[in-house]
Amino acid sequence: MDLNYPPETEPFRAEVRQWLEDHLPKGWFDEGFEMTPEERRAWNEQWTEVLFEGGWICATWPKEYGGKGLSTMEGVVLNEEFARAGAPMRADFFGDTLVGPTILQWGTEEQKKFFLPKILSGEIAWCQGFSEPDAGSDLASIKTRAVLDGDEWVINGQKIWTTQGFVADYIFILCRTDPDAPKHKGISYLLAPMKQPGVEVRPIEQVDGSAEFCEVFFTDARCPKDNVLGGVNNGWKVANATLGFERGTSATTGYRRFEKELDIIVDAAKANGAIDDPLIRQRIAWAYSNVQIMRINGLRSLTSVVQNKKDAGVTALGLTNKMFWSEYHQKVMELAMDVLGMDGQVLTGDPTIEESVPGYGMRATNAKYPASSLQSSFFFSRSETIWGGTAQIQRNIVGERFLGLPKEPRAEAAKP
Ligand SMILES: Cc1cc2nc3c(=O)[nH]c(=O)nc-3n(C[C@H](O)[C@H](O)[C@H](O)COP(=O)(O)OP(=O)(O)OC[C@H]3O[C@@H](n4cnc5c(N)ncnc54)[C@H](O)[C@@H]3O)c2cc1C
Repeated sequence: MDLNYPPETEPFRAEVRQWLEDHLPKGWFDEGFEMTPEERRAWNEQWTEVLFEGGWICATWPKEYGGKGLSTMEGVVLNEEFARAGAPMRADFFGDTLVGPTILQWGTEEQKKFFLPKILSGEIAWCQGFSEPDAGSDLASIKTRAVLDGDEWVINGQKIWTTQGFVADYIFILCRTDPDAPKHKGISYLLAPMKQPGVEVRPIEQVDGSAEFCEVFFTDARCPKDNVLGGVNNGWKVANATLGFERGTSATTGYRRFEKELDIIVDAAKANGAIDDPLIRQRIAWAYSNVQIMRINGLRSLTSVVQNKKDAGVTALGLTNKMFWSEYHQKVMELAMDVLGMDGQVLTGDPTIEESVPGYGMRATNAKYPASSLQSSFFFSRSETIWGGTAQIQRNIVGERFLGLPKEPRAEAAKP
């Protein structure tokens, strides 16, 4: 692993630093700088526009589709400088992180030209239509059908756990297009419009009053024929590209969010005296070590990308990344609740505001259930070993695809 950055990245680092200094609010870098929630909200609202004008959204995408064409290394430097400054990057998970890169990999020229600039500008918001009531971990069992009718696909069926389904303009949806083919071979990946009479979205309210995800019902919904990504009946391969992006997200820079969060937990422990408890100190040291492991593994993955070298260890890191950080995060949020002690049992968020301002990478809170940022992050951490493929499924993948262990036994079809 080479810990020195190539010297040619330094002018780029200086450029990003300067841009941040010029565009962040006055006083941002001063000790004790604070904004009221109202000021922060107003600033957040225009910040995405400023980022877009600066060309920093999806800046590694090619220039012809609206990106800046940055190299991988420049992309990392960009993230580092934003993290150093505590400046938020746009977090459009579905467009920027999942479907955008999948379209880049699998899309036709027309699809790239149509969709990518609209993702960058925020004109199209997306949701992910993979899971169904009887197809979660066993995703290839999806039943939602798409049948060609002239120039359009006609979609019938149901998706579930569709995050942001109520705001999305488009859904990247897996549909069965050949019911007679083996189950992995009869699926297509469609880019379907959401705002149409055949699509009914029912938000699912959670215990904290928020309703991030939805059930989505399709009744003769229409999708242009040409909006198949990666070819008809090739959807399983395309879906795996998306899942790869979902599971591999920020393997190189993702540790920063946990580093920042751990600082907040340590500050809370110092403030209420929990830091004097030797068991709490041990757990903080454990957490710190794990964040360092993620940092070093990230650097190792980055080195292999930059040097264009494949090594088996890096492949294993890619496969274990999601289960490692999600299981770490559950444990560290349990630590956070123990640090807060009895105070962690009452809601300490601000009920007067719809969304309190979370710290960098922390989860926003909800006015109906005013949890603090740490409490909210604790709740959400419970879901992190589920979405994007459960930790158990990741272990199966590591066992079967990497370690070459025997395939897990499948339930036999019931005999008549
Ligand atoms: C916060 C959140 C947001 C989500 N957003 C979306 C979204 O936007 N779009 C979308 O399509 N989906 C979304 N999902 C759904 C998510 O992808 C599924 O929940 C996930 O794939 C698991 O499927 P399931 O819930 O049907 O559980 P199941 O597959 O029924 O699994 C139940 C349990 O059995 C275990 N299990 C199942 N099969 C095996 C096996 N072969 N070996 C060992 N253990 C096994 C699982 O690990 C799990 O513990 C979201 C989920 C969450 C929690």
